[in-house]
Amino acid sequence: MTFNRRSFLKAGLAAAVTAPVAGVHAVEYSSKIKFDKTADVVILGYGGAGACAAIEAHDAGAKVLILEKLPQGGGNTAVSSGGFMVPKNADEAYKYLSATFEFADSEKDDELVKTFCKEIMGVKDFIIGLKPDTKLMIYGHAGFKSLPGSDTIDKYRIRGKKRGGDMLFDQYRYAVEEVRKIDVMYETPALEIIRRNGEVVGVVAQSNGKRINIRANRAVILTTGGYEYDKQSLRTYALGKDIQGLGSPGNTGDGLRMAQTMGARLWHMTSYSCPVGMKVPGLKSAVQLNILAPSHIWVDQDGKRFVNEKGLDNHTCLYAVNQMDPIRHRYPRIPCYLIMDEKARKAGPICGGATSGYALNRENYKWSKDNSAEIESGVLIKADSLKELAKKINVPGETLEATVARWNKDINNGKDTEFGRILKRDPKGKTAFAGREAPIVSEPLGAGPYYAVALYPTMLNTQGGPKKNVRGQVMDPQDKPIARLYAAGELGSMWGSIYQGATNNAECIVFGRIAGRAAAAEKPWA
Ligand SMILES: Cc1cc2nc3c(=O)[nH]c(=O)nc-3n(C[C@H](O)[C@H](O)[C@H](O)COP(=O)(O)OP(=O)(O)OC[C@H]3O[C@@H](n4cnc5c(N)ncnc54)[C@H](O)[C@@H]3O)c2cc1C
Repeated sequence: MTFNRRSFLKAGLAAAVTAPVAGVHAVEYSSKIKFDKTADVVILGYGGAGACAAIEAHDAGAKVLILEKLPQGGGNTAVSSGGFMVPKNADEAYKYLSATFEFADSEKDDELVKTFCKEIMGVKDFIIGLKPDTKLMIYGHAGFKSLPGSDTIDKYRIRGKKRGGDMLFDQYRYAVEEVRKIDVMYETPALEIIRRNGEVVGVVAQSNGKRINIRANRAVILTTGGYEYDKQSLRTYALGKDIQGLGSPGNTGDGLRMAQTMGARLWHMTSYSCPVGMKVPGLKSAVQLNILAPSHIWVDQDGKRFVNEKGLDNHTCLYAVNQMDPIRHRYPRIPCYLIMDEKARKAGPICGGATSGYALNRENYKWSKDNSAEIESGVLIKADSLKELAKKINVPGETLEATVARWNKDINNGKDTEFGRILKRDPKGKTAFAGREAPIVSEPLGAGPYYAVALYPTMLNTQGGPKKNVRGQVMDPQDKPIARLYAAGELGSMWGSIYQGATNNAECIVFGRIAGRAAAAEKPWA
């Protein structure tokens, strides 16, 4: 594991403010409140949604102030893969995206989906226009090919040498700070909303250890991201246990609590985008599993396979592992175990070519090419025989041996009779992520030593938060807008439990921009 001094300092600084900070009540305005700073539009959180809102509010003539809790901006956006979905055709995209809500029986706001599908068609031009010499590339397609309209889904990212999330956020940072000189206050977490007669008129924040009052003449926009790192919110809203974060530890549900203090209606609270991955000792965040070698399976704590390991869309793995056993008082698949042979261990890092995530991008963890460093650190558990391996991970040895024997027999006979995992992939077929799928999908486990890796749900992002309308206004339980309060991004995302990849960043752009324009158009309060 490699840490440099800069990343260590940043991680240390970040630690100071990554605890949930927002208070549990709003502050009532009175003429005694002295404002330390004033802006027309105050934006809480400087990730993708906050940046897009700031750009539009500024361009509409508003004086904008961004408050960011951490010493640097970017949030999940800057450690994401930087992908954003732009379909070929808006009507087909509407069909496809609508089907994801039906499939999951998640709440769908038809107006939001229609607005998204219309506005997303202009997003390539918007991104290209933010910085000179920007070029885009397609890197992936639909996650759910059986849904109607799936052929229209293309995922784009900025072409360049840096990592995807950094390139996307650099684009925003350039447009916000260098072109527009928008005021950003770092290490300034927003704590509480200031309200007057039910409308939002400002924010209390913390700056240099002091509480400061900021007046928002027109509106406040919540873009504080989700609650991936707030254990209490996860316990309240997420089924399952031991859920790890892949993104920025600053996302601790602060905006969620601030919205609640204003009486917001919440939605999509049990919806997540969540692969499986590994805990690494000493890191704040987890690393996503993306094994390319075919000679591996997953087993539960009883040593049995339970799913087509390569049939899952990356974003929906949580649903395959999140099962409670009420009789034996356990989650038998949390952790579950990746079981692989020596050939797979040597074939490449089990995190594959993944370049996104806080661990790799901000904690600067370098996964070893042959997974040997992770044997040392105990992430990979090694044994000469399957029986010995089973003992080390506390699963029944005979069952694990029988599971591997059945897998090997099946694959040698040309068919996974248990879960239908395919043997080979059409190399020309469209995949959700380019370069993340090898053509050979399944192989028998060969000679030992054998390895087990504990796999946990590792959250990309939560979708829950305040419900918004098509102008980005936060709604109350009667579906009435809360005056001068807006939200955008993954906080109260429009997406439900079945998530098509690259649509969170896309939503940040579409509804960040909409919220920015609408907030700037509010009349100042007096
Ligand atoms: C590893 C990974 C890969 C991903 N890849 C993709 C992808 O390719 N495509 C895609 O569409 N989605 C992807 N996602 C999801 C997507 O990146 C996020 O949903 C999206 O970036 C959210 O943007 P946001 O602006 O809402 O929040 P963020 O970008 O997380 O920004 C929120 C900001 O608010 C700040 N903040 C929090 N609390 C406060 C407070 N009290 N006061 C002030 N500031 C505060 C945070 O520090 C943070 O900077 C990925 C996520 C991860 C973790």
